[in-house]
Amino acid sequence: MDFQNRPGGKTGSGGVASASESNRDRRERLRQLALETIDINKDPYFMKNHLGSYECKLCLTLHNNEGSYLAHTQGKKHQTNLARRAAKEAKESPAQPAPEKVKVEVKKFVKIGRPGYKVTKQRDPETGQQSLLFQIDYPEIAETIYPRHRFMSAYEQRIEPPDRRWQYLLFAAEPYETIAFKVPSREIDKGESKFWTHWNRDTKQFFLQFHFKMEKLLPPPTMPVPPPGVKRPPPPLMGALPPRPPTSDSVPPPPPGGMPLPPGAPVPPQMPPQIPPPGPGIPPPAPLPPLLRPPLPTDASGNMPPPPPSS
Ligand SMILES: [Zn+2]
Repeated sequence: MDFQNRPGGKTGSGGVASASESNRDRRERLRQLALETIDINKDPYFMKNHLGSYECKLCLTLHNNEGSYLAHTQGKKHQTNLARRAAKEAKESPAQPAPEKVKVEVKKFVKIGRPGYKVTKQRDPETGQQSLLFQIDYPEIAETIYPRHRFMSAYEQRIEPPDRRWQYLLFAAEPYETIAFKVPSREIDKGESKFWTHWNRDTKQFFLQFHFKMEKLLPPPTMPVPPPGVKRPPPPLMGALPPRPPTSDSVPPPPPGGMPLPPGAPVPPQMPPQIPPPGPGIPPPAPLPPLLRPPLPTDASGNMPPPPPSS
């Protein structure tokens, strides 16, 4: 017997009697967020019954109030059923020109803010090749979601005035907001083991590492003198930018709800020369100063599309 579906039973999909404090907190937070952002009248599964309580027509669950229903829509059960329903509809009507509707339903998530992240700069001690390792924490990622990423050129994004010296690396995973990191627009090394992603379903952490292509200008460490014509200063740069006035090493995270970035706000692209290069593939114990911008609020303007599935 499924007690979760009984009237007055526990809402959502959490454990029956073992709902922990943190679970309750989480549900309350989701409820608040949902109340602020969702239009419940457009939800095809939301139904008010004649007893004055609410039902999820998809999961056949009963809810005492709207908030309870909304929290339910963010839960595992509802999301799973949404995905199942979408798959079923797609299978039953493959030729119908209505997959759009299905897609919209699947993508119905109430954003719960930005994920935590850590960025680690690395440099191969042998070759000097520079890389960036991203760790994005998605503790409350939706069950059916796999984190995606993609690069975006300065001209494709609409958050800041375009600057061809930069590109953006986006990460998306519902119900989190999509975030973007501003990185030098140097060529990316797509060689094997130079570019990889890893999704740890257990720890809910998404990893991505990429290397910048070695620049011809960059002399190997053993070569004492750079080739003639090189205008680089001694410490190798992450980008081709001239040195800029230093800014704070630890940029505080932007306020929630969107942050208009000042155009041309400098981000020092230099790799600090005093940082010892970590072993290949192994993140150093402590994160290096985040020289990158904090994530851009890509949802603020609504015109930056989410990245496609990772390749
Ligand atoms: Zn439901």
